[in-house]
Amino acid sequence: MTETSHRTDTSDTPASTDFLPTIAFIGLGNMGGPMAHNLAAAGYRVIGFDLVPEALEKARAAGVEIAASGAEAVRSAASAPQSLVITMLPAGRHVVGALKGSDGSDGRDPVEGLLAAAAPNTLFMDCSTIAVEDSVAVRELTTAAGHRVLDAPVSGGTVGAEAGTLAMMVGGAAEDVAEAMPVLEVVGKRIVHCGPAGNGLAAKVCNNMILGASMIAVSEAFVLGEKLGLSNEALFDVASNATGQCWALTTNCPVPGPVPTSPANRDFKPGFAGALMAKDLGLAKSAIETTGIEGRMGLLAEEIYAAFAQGEGGTKDFSGIIELIREQSTPTA
Ligand code: NAD
Repeated sequence: MTETSHRTDTSDTPASTDFLPTIAFIGLGNMGGPMAHNLAAAGYRVIGFDLVPEALEKARAAGVEIAASGAEAVRSAASAPQSLVITMLPAGRHVVGALKGSDGSDGRDPVEGLLAAAAPNTLFMDCSTIAVEDSVAVRELTTAAGHRVLDAPVSGGTVGAEAGTLAMMVGGAAEDVAEAMPVLEVVGKRIVHCGPAGNGLAAKVCNNMILGASMIAVSEAFVLGEKLGLSNEALFDVASNATGQCWALTTNCPVPGPVPTSPANRDFKPGFAGALMAKDLGLAKSAIETTGIEGRMGLLAEEIYAAFAQGEGGTKDFSGIIELIREQSTPTA
């Protein structure tokens, strides 16, 4: 696949699509829908499937062919000279379940698994954010079925998915990453090969643990500054040019004013929802416990965001945590 080209930046002539792999895209939700759309718009044949009819209709309107099941999407793609299977599902159990399928012994209708429907040695790329231990299961199942696997979780939210500017953290063999690179470049902007399969997810979990803890620290600092009589602008001007500088402060600032584009200026409309931060910190907690590292900040951040996400915070931007911190602070006498 290294000879393929989907870019037309340097010429008015559309690139040939003769060598592009056909893509089976499973999970056409908030993230998968726009990603599949961008791939179809870049000239890829994309055959998609989702359990929700509205997601299917939206994808169809965006140029994605719709299959009757996930396995059917994979089988149709496998009839092309080259194919790639992308999964973008809510959590590990959905990914494992879709790969394996089920024989109906649970009382539900049998579901054919994606692995069984694929041509031998197919490349599977899971873009979902799942637990590190689930990604091990995904890797073992996929390789045992005679296929290849990449984990490529993303960050950048629905805005990044729509704009094709997601940050992608990729784990897998170098030659498989090279094979997937033209596809990754359609949906993503900053693509980092983090090492063997599973490392993409490890990188995402570690990064979001930094993000959760730093947003709490920045929010506590603003609330403390307010109590000490410091204006938000003054604290921002100091910290953004000093050692307190970080993304949570300078891009996603939790107080309105200093960064006009931050969610705090629009009543914390996400952005990156509190429920997703709570989910990612739950994955960090599980990895901390499995590895036995001393991760007190990560565990505390998980506890704080789990409480935040139980209420309205679940649907607010995660920077709305500042409201909870204000609320829970002792009122000044
Ligand atoms: P979503 O719930 O909008 O979409 C998931 C889709 O998967 C749903 O449409 C659901 O019907 C479908 N699905 C579930 N099981 C299926 C199956 N067996 N076969 C086919 N379809 C199935 O979720 P999302 O926001 O698109 O997130 C997807 C993944 O990306 C999650 O792991 C999430 O943590 C991660 N993520 C999301 C964001 C974000 O801002 N939304 C940002 C970064 C990463």
